[in-house]
Amino acid sequence: MSKSMLSVCGSLLCLFPTSIGQQDSLAGDYLHHAIMGFVKHLGSCSYIGLCRPTSFRMALGKLWSLLWILPLIHGFRVELHVHLDGAIGSDILFEICRARGLQLPGIGVPRSAEEVQHFVERSSSWHRFDAVNEIIGGDLASIRLAAEAFVAFQAKSGVLYTEVRYDPVRLARSQLQNASTTEEEAVRAVQEGLAVGAASHGVSVYQILCAMRGKSPKQCFEMAQLALKLQSKEMGGVVGLDLAGDETDFPNAAYVDCMRYAKDSGLNTTVHSGEFNTTQSKDVHSAVFLMRADRVGHGYAAVQDAQLVHELRRRQIHLEACPKSALRHGAWALRAIHSFKEHQLLFGLNTDDPSLFFCNTSAAADEAIVSDYLNFTVKDIQAAYASAYKARFGGRDLTQLLV
Ligand SMILES: [Zn+2]
Repeated sequence: MSKSMLSVCGSLLCLFPTSIGQQDSLAGDYLHHAIMGFVKHLGSCSYIGLCRPTSFRMALGKLWSLLWILPLIHGFRVELHVHLDGAIGSDILFEICRARGLQLPGIGVPRSAEEVQHFVERSSSWHRFDAVNEIIGGDLASIRLAAEAFVAFQAKSGVLYTEVRYDPVRLARSQLQNASTTEEEAVRAVQEGLAVGAASHGVSVYQILCAMRGKSPKQCFEMAQLALKLQSKEMGGVVGLDLAGDETDFPNAAYVDCMRYAKDSGLNTTVHSGEFNTTQSKDVHSAVFLMRADRVGHGYAAVQDAQLVHELRRRQIHLEACPKSALRHGAWALRAIHSFKEHQLLFGLNTDDPSLFFCNTSAAADEAIVSDYLNFTVKDIQAAYASAYKARFGGRDLTQLLV
C-alpha cells in the first residue's frame, strides 16, 4: 500500500467521525483527532508489509492512548471516587448477615434487609462505615461477595470503568463475630471479588487503598507499603493510595511525609482535601505541592484561592468531584463544581458513597444534580467522564507498552 493510498484511506476513515460529529461534535472532534494520529504514524511506512515495527507500534499506541475519548460517547460513565463500604446496599448486607449467621445488637439474626438498614442507620454519620464493615469484615467470602456486588452495582449504573477505595484495616476485622483476617488477605479477597464481577459484567475495575486520617503517620506508612507490595495491573488489582477520613480534625500536615513517600516510591496517589468547608484550600495546596498527589478528592475549597486554581489548571490536576456528596456539605461545595468548569479545571463526576445510608445517589442522579442546579449540558458531563478516564490509575498497560 503506497503513501497516497494510505492518505485516501485516512480521508475515508475521517468521514466516519465527522458524521458522528454532526450528532456530537465533541466526540467527533476527538475521534477525528485519534484517527488522524493513527494515520499520520502509519503514513510513515512506505508499505504496510515493510513497515518498521517501531512505526506500527507508535501508530497503534497513538490510537490506544486516545481511548479516553470513549467517555465522550453517550452513556459511557467513568467513576474514580467511590468507597466500597459506602456503596454496599442493605440487600447485600442482609445476604451476608444470613450467610455468616451474624447476630446484630438489639436485632439478633436479621429477618429482612430493612432490619439491617435499621442497624446501620442507628449509628451517626462516620460510624455508619464502621457498622457496614462490622457486617462485611474479617471474613474472606463476605469480602469477595461485597466486592463482586459492587461491580454489579456499577454495571447497572452504566459505569464501564471504575476505581473503588476502602480502608483494609477496617475491612479486615469484625467485632460482631470476633472475626479477623490480615489486611493483605482482605485486599486479595477484594481483588478476587472485583475480578469475578468484572468478568461477569464487562466493567473494568481496580482498587485504591485508603490510609486514614486520625490514625498515626506510622499506620499511613504501613498502608503505603501494603499498596506497594500488592499493586497490580491485573483486573481488580491495587493501583494507588488515598488519604481519607476526617479532614477537619486531622488536616494534611501529619501525613505529608507518608503520602510523599508513596508518590516517590512509584504509587499513584489521590488525597481527599478541601471537602468540608471553605477554609480548607490549604489542604488542597499541600496535597498538590507537598504530597504531589496525582489527583485530589473533592477539592471544593480550592476555588477560594485564585492562585491555587491557576496551578491546578496549569498542572492539569484532576479533581474528583462528587455532586450529591458536595450538596450535603452545603451549596458552596456544589457551586465549586460549577467553578471548576468555569475555570476550565479537569474534573470528573463521582458518587462517593452512593448507598442509602450515606448519599443515596447514583451516577444518573448526580448527572441530574449538575444538570438541574449547575446548568451542565450533556457535553459538559461527557467531558467530565473523559477527563476521569484520562486520569485513571488502572488499565494503562497497553499504553505503557506501545507509546
Ligand atoms: Zn470520598
